Amino acid sequence: MIHLKTSAQIEAMKEAGRVSAKALRKTGELVRPGISTLELDRFAENLIRMEGGIPAFLGYNGFRGSICSSLNDQIVHGVPSQAVILREGDIISIDTGAIVGGWVGDNAATFAVGQIAPETQRLLEITEKCMWSGVEAACNGNKLGDIGYAVQAVAEGAGFGVVREYVGHGIGRVMHEDPNVPNFGHRGQGIKLKVGMVLAIEPMINLGTGQTRGPYEDGWTVYTADGTPSAHFEKTVAITKDGPVVLTAE
Ligand code: MG
Repeated sequence: MIHLKTSAQIEAMKEAGRVSAKALRKTGELVRPGISTLELDRFAENLIRMEGGIPAFLGYNGFRGSICSSLNDQIVHGVPSQAVILREGDIISIDTGAIVGGWVGDNAATFAVGQIAPETQRLLEITEKCMWSGVEAACNGNKLGDIGYAVQAVAEGAGFGVVREYVGHGIGRVMHEDPNVPNFGHRGQGIKLKVGMVLAIEPMINLGTGQTRGPYEDGWTVYTADGTPSAHFEKTVAITKDGPVVLTAE
């Protein structure tokens, strides 16, 4: 069931979005060779709590972190660890979510650790472009398939693989609401997008094929099947009469 939000509720969601966005930006600023993903996690948790929020991921289905930290060929849901140390040339996808006033914000970005390979840099740029393409399609009267199509066209136009097993989602009082928001689709297909829908639009794009493997022992971390790097960008977006409004903004 899709929960439409009133404009007052969308306003209230902006605070959860702001805290989520600040946590992502500030944690991203700490990305450098030698730092562990657990240090990033602790920093993000502290920041979210200092801003009056609750880390949305901590304890979610038993997840141990306040962020997801997914390195290189890890697509999503990487578990922060003291043993995972960032190295020059890595990429790291950081996903942060905060609950404020009973509303959830959710966003993600992939960061370069020092100097990265040019093709990997291109993957990051294209994946962010995919996200914005999806956001721009999140308009009243469009269809859900228009978002997926917009993302997929940019990714595949660049020769990259779209992850299909993991998708975006509705968001509100809880992190994952209906509908699912695939990063692939056909124009004009799927449910109609309406004012009051709030969606987490989050392309996961691989340098190689879109196929995934895992999770394995930790029960969480998802990898690219072919071992190529993967990038992930996400915003929480409200559909309003004036067009899409990004809620995970400072
Ligand atoms: Mg999400």
